[in-house]
Amino acid sequence: MRSEKWEVKIICSLLFAFCFLLFAGCATVSYKKLPTGLRQSDYLSIDEFCKQYGLRYSFDTTDDIIRISSQSAQGRLLLNSLLGYFNGSIFYLKKPPLYFQGRLLLPKELGKIILSKKIGLFKPSFTIKTIVIDPGHGGKDPGAISRYGLKEKDLNSKVSKYLKEELEKRGFKVVLTRSQDTYLSLESRVGVAKKYSADLFISIHANSNRSRKVRGVEVYCLSSSRVNSHERGAGLAKRESFRPKKLSSDARAILLDVTLTKNYALSVELAHSLYFTFKNLGFRIKPPLKASFYVLKFAHSPSILVEMGYLSNQYEEKALRKTRYQKQIAESIALGVVSLGKRYAGANQ
Ligand SMILES: [Zn+2]
Repeated sequence: MRSEKWEVKIICSLLFAFCFLLFAGCATVSYKKLPTGLRQSDYLSIDEFCKQYGLRYSFDTTDDIIRISSQSAQGRLLLNSLLGYFNGSIFYLKKPPLYFQGRLLLPKELGKIILSKKIGLFKPSFTIKTIVIDPGHGGKDPGAISRYGLKEKDLNSKVSKYLKEELEKRGFKVVLTRSQDTYLSLESRVGVAKKYSADLFISIHANSNRSRKVRGVEVYCLSSSRVNSHERGAGLAKRESFRPKKLSSDARAILLDVTLTKNYALSVELAHSLYFTFKNLGFRIKPPLKASFYVLKFAHSPSILVEMGYLSNQYEEKALRKTRYQKQIAESIALGVVSLGKRYAGANQ
């Protein structure tokens, strides 16, 4: 990850990611007192709720996503957010799901939404057809360079081409942002995703660190930008004719843009899929990280950024030179994509 603009963006992003993890990601906010305007009688505990509607649920504290499902339906909610999905359609709640006194609470209104025919008739809107792969750096921008001269831009290109093959084998349409050793601005990379209406955008990179010991694959997904969403939240509330007065400033602060939220949720899911496939294939990998990289934020599609390993680490550098290893990385990513696709195909049945 070495280039003028990128370096600044990445440092900012990592700082942001750190703050995000410190303030939001690590500890799910548990209210001691309900935010102003919300009453406990408007809520059911998630156990009671799921029992009443015959649903199963899971809650992931790393991304604050609540998943609810029955045999024929699947839904996702974001903790503290008014946006939700059920069977592929987006809806707005008047009251957000909350973590209160150590219990996860869902608003009773959600029951009506789930039972409404309108929601039931919607098909999941997410199918993966076109995938844009973005080999990082290129041309005058080599990215990271290993001690032995391996350039990140070349490695990114190779793995991206293998990934293209792997995905095409599995029936996806794949477009590369660059197939030659050319320099591309971040805007034009994102422009390719827009042009082809990409369903997924995957940026391929290799890492470098001053400490040669640092190693491992990293997968970044879009940060939900909750920390700085006060203004945006208020604007959205107006546009979508919410009545923010009823909500606390905390709840308002976390209203998210529709596209960003949908992409955020899918990016998080994709990152988790990849995490598991990499892990299953024996790679050293950290749980998904969140960042506001330009390409993740503006690709207008669920996006992830994969750091395939550290060129500054001698073992990984050696492995990354090998075609077999490069192909294994490509395969892991492809399997992660397939697994995400299957999850949505399942909801369609
Ligand atoms: Zn890079």
